[in-house]
Amino acid sequence: MRSACRAARRGGRMGFVPTMGALHEGHLSLVRAARSSCDVVAASIFVNPAQFGPGEDLAKYPRHFERDRGLLEKHGVELLFAPSVEEMYPAGVVTWVTVDELSDKLDGRSRPGHFRGVTTVVAKLFHVVEPDAAFFGQKDAAQVAIIRRLVRDLNFPVEIVACPIVREADGLAMSSRNVYLDPRQREQALVLQRALARVKKSWEAGERDSAKLMAEGREEVAEEKSVRLDYLEIVDPDSLDPVEDVGDGALVAVAVFVGSTRLIDNVLLQRLANKATA
Ligand code: AMP
Repeated sequence: MRSACRAARRGGRMGFVPTMGALHEGHLSLVRAARSSCDVVAASIFVNPAQFGPGEDLAKYPRHFERDRGLLEKHGVELLFAPSVEEMYPAGVVTWVTVDELSDKLDGRSRPGHFRGVTTVVAKLFHVVEPDAAFFGQKDAAQVAIIRRLVRDLNFPVEIVACPIVREADGLAMSSRNVYLDPRQREQALVLQRALARVKKSWEAGERDSAKLMAEGREEVAEEKSVRLDYLEIVDPDSLDPVEDVGDGALVAVAVFVGSTRLIDNVLLQRLANKATA
């Protein structure tokens, strides 16, 4: 893969989209973003065991390799890396890449070891593909913050581009895990959107107290009785530290269990730069 990437780039800018496959429009939006700003685009499909905890859905994670390969080809991806687990983690591997502190927050707190798996595999993939830019979805907001820190702390010469969350028509964020939901759960999952919308509305109406905003979001989740809240937090989007006064902006991140399916979503509270006064 490394020599194929070196041969294909011919001095141009190489964009890279890492995925776990079971591709949907969210993934394809990253490919489009990569294509629009890079000369050559590479992607990877690897269901990374190191980022799944015991009892999580590694075995049942959806895998549709031939379909995914066709989609990537159709969308102009020139290089696809789909290694086996043995290729990525040969016997005897003992080296891990950990972004301390950030990796124990949000999803990292609920899924111990998850981000160590993510940062290790992303570091390895960056060494293989040697991209100039790598494209990640804002849907996994904590992951974006952690990868930005990884790149900064370990001097990877890679620009990290975060792309907007792609949603279904009714607002549910696209996820490879949505296929686990039965029709009733699919309906219940919309509580993520409602909780985030309520927090955002309240913030837009002038509420700045993070504790009050979080309480409103959590209350909204509690109204959907069959859904179990994992977390709803308001944090700094870079450090992932809690913020008390939301001020000019913050990240509202939420995770819930719908049945045994864990779903996440988030919204950035951002004050728009000076609106035109025409
Ligand atoms: P995954 O295959 O779930 O590991 O996701 C691969 C990449 O696609 C990650 O950077 C995700 O953040 C991104 N992604 C997944 N779902 C979405 C979505 N609904 N919108 C935008 N990006 C997404």
